[in-house]
Amino acid sequence: MQRALFSRSALLAQQTAKNALLLQRLDRSMSSVTIPPPACMLRPLEAPLRYLFGPGPSNVPPRILAVGAKPIIGHMHQEMFEIMNDIKRGIQYAFQTENNMTISMSGSGHTAMECAVFNVVEPGESVLVAINGIWGERVAEIAERMGANVHRMVKTPGGYFSNKEIEQAIAKHKPVLFFLTHGESSAGLCHPVNGIGDICRKHNCLFLVDTVASLGAAPIFMDKQNIDILYTGSQKALNAPPGTAPISFNDRACHKMFNRKTKPVSYLLDMTHLSNYWGCDGKPARAYHHTGPVSGFFALRESLSILAEKGLEESWKKHKEVAGYLYRGLEDLGLKLFIPERELRLPSVTTIAIPDGYDWRELLAYIMKHHNMEMTGGLGPSIGMVMRIGLMGYNCEKTNADMALNALADALKNCKKSKA
Ligand code: PMP
Repeated sequence: MQRALFSRSALLAQQTAKNALLLQRLDRSMSSVTIPPPACMLRPLEAPLRYLFGPGPSNVPPRILAVGAKPIIGHMHQEMFEIMNDIKRGIQYAFQTENNMTISMSGSGHTAMECAVFNVVEPGESVLVAINGIWGERVAEIAERMGANVHRMVKTPGGYFSNKEIEQAIAKHKPVLFFLTHGESSAGLCHPVNGIGDICRKHNCLFLVDTVASLGAAPIFMDKQNIDILYTGSQKALNAPPGTAPISFNDRACHKMFNRKTKPVSYLLDMTHLSNYWGCDGKPARAYHHTGPVSGFFALRESLSILAEKGLEESWKKHKEVAGYLYRGLEDLGLKLFIPERELRLPSVTTIAIPDGYDWRELLAYIMKHHNMEMTGGLGPSIGMVMRIGLMGYNCEKTNADMALNALADALKNCKKSKA
């Protein structure tokens, strides 16, 4: 009886589907469009759950995912401005700054890089860039594209610069801006920052620091360390989805960027407009400039709120502890850490020298296929030199380090030494 019922309803459902298809075809034959809807668009989206143990994005905790799914409000509604004000305070805490000019970009880390350079540098001005991995290279290219006179200080990935070397180069090139990456994620290096801000002040140069890969994982104190412009990204230790990027400018940086002879090359990234949109320019009303990523800002606010609850010091301590645990496990597997000086290793992204005789692509593909886990190779100048494991924020747990070590051990056992 149950069976008969089932088959009768199944037949009915089949018939309804056939009718719908016929109607659709009929509809299309009368349609004015010549490009049919693509078949892929008629399938539901598929996004697998994956262990994101690479250099970012990292897994987003359910609490942040949930606020990202809240109903949208208008980008110019009072409630949204309140949320943006909260974000500003959250960033001030995360950066350890009292700077009023503290906002989030509507875009990824690159947007913040371009915003910093485009706003404080004018065409023809001198810019000095420290390059010890890909991020310095990127900033040098961005500055060159907008017509700056770019000078490069270059070390191989994993190298770092002494304050003496930096001061000599600043004295020689007289830049208006000096760029340094705090957390060089392509090399796994956390660059010392102390004293560099003072050198920049002495030589009337602005100090720009990239903390996309290090914020929340390694200590940084924007005000105390005399950093003039600092930015980060949402998708690393903050654990928000990619697409927003906090940035802050101190008074020295504001003085330079708001007393320019020329307008910045980008309308979208012009801080004159963005400072008003974020209520930082002292004007009574905020004017429309662009439509900010409302859900992205909800998620960013939640991620900053989690960091505030946990506390910066606790977060730094946890990253250091878990990284130390990972280092021991890697060494037990016979692997060599790429950065020999322990105190210079970036706690969020660990780089391993590629083990002799192995093809790193094969190892990573094996780990993805058999463990559903992302680890990555190098980036830019570190390609072919390193493999990278990122355990950031929510992912920063010893149990995750164990999973990563287990996956690596399995890959080392099963990937034949094909490169040798
Ligand atoms: N700087 C550093 C140190 C990074 O690690 C990254 C991202 N990997 C970026 C800048 C660029 O950020 P995004 O990919 O969000 O544009």
